[in-house]
Amino acid sequence: MIDLAEELKDVQSVAIAGHIRPDGDAIGSCLGLYLYLKKNYPKIDAAVYLEKIPRAYRIISGVDEVRNEIPQDTACDLFFCLDCADEFRLGAAGEFRKHAKRTICIDHHISNNGFGDLDYIVPDASSTSELVVGILDEEKIPFEAAEALYMGIVHDTGVFRHSCTSPETMEMAARLMRRGIDGSKIVNATYYDKSYQQRLIHGKALLESSLLKDGKVIFSYVPRDDMEFFGVETSDLDGIVETLVGTYGVEVAIFLYETEPGVYKVSMRSKSSVDVSRVAQHFSGGGHVRAAGCNMKGTAYGVLELLLSQIEPQLEGKDSD
Ligand code: AMP
Ligand code: MN
Ligand code: MN
Repeated sequence: MIDLAEELKDVQSVAIAGHIRPDGDAIGSCLGLYLYLKKNYPKIDAAVYLEKIPRAYRIISGVDEVRNEIPQDTACDLFFCLDCADEFRLGAAGEFRKHAKRTICIDHHISNNGFGDLDYIVPDASSTSELVVGILDEEKIPFEAAEALYMGIVHDTGVFRHSCTSPETMEMAARLMRRGIDGSKIVNATYYDKSYQQRLIHGKALLESSLLKDGKVIFSYVPRDDMEFFGVETSDLDGIVETLVGTYGVEVAIFLYETEPGVYKVSMRSKSSVDVSRVAQHFSGGGHVRAAGCNMKGTAYGVLELLLSQIEPQLEGKDSD
């Protein structure tokens, strides 16, 4: 656990950043902590940096305060690195890690080996946002920070559905609800509501999916051409892999999209027995036991074959380490 007040003693400047291509938890945890510091420590010069925030998250108050450009001068007293499994996943914000006097990592990725001066890494936690709520003084959490942190918990738990949802998760969510937020609005607007174009590309990805390995693996892939045709961004594909894994009999879902010709973002989800974080780590990625990702090159089917070669031994129970 982190004693936040103690950590902030004599601190004049703070930078906060999360992983590249930020998701609900990266945005929620970074923005939530930033808004909390801004309100309760007005003398500290705090700033929050993230890559472009996808449209779905833009209903959260305070989102306009997120900076996209990393400044020339990245020196600061304290750098908070949130929801980021390793230094490379910080992207350009990695400069803060190099020039800050002190770095604190708060994270829940099982693949995070710790790269801060202080590491608060809890792989059993549902989300980084849950961990951030735990270090804040409940009575002092501003409404806007509560909205952001609630969104983070909602997204990493799949709306309190995934097995990472614990009594502690619900307790942290309750603390946020008591700040007066509209939880249902956050869930619908940032998680369930999609554009018509998104519905179409989700439909296409489902229609073109294939069942492999006696129905235990489901695979789908979206090439760049399709994304251009439907006019969607990569973040518009969020949710496809979750739908795929929720298919009767499926243990592992593999979903790929092309980020540039011949380069793929891989998303994997598992239901109960396969540790997909180990598969992702084998290909220099990371994540959690039930949700993990990596980036790979080649052809979509070549990538699929490589992934299956790592998944199959686990499916067959031959994997002993
Ligand atoms: P995604 O499939 O992108 O939703 O990611 C699932 C989980 O794996 C998230 O917690 C991500 O932060 C993590 N993850 C995805 N891609 C990578 C990667 N290339 N390296 C490390 N962790 C990743
Ligand atoms: Mn994340
Ligand atoms: Mn997370």
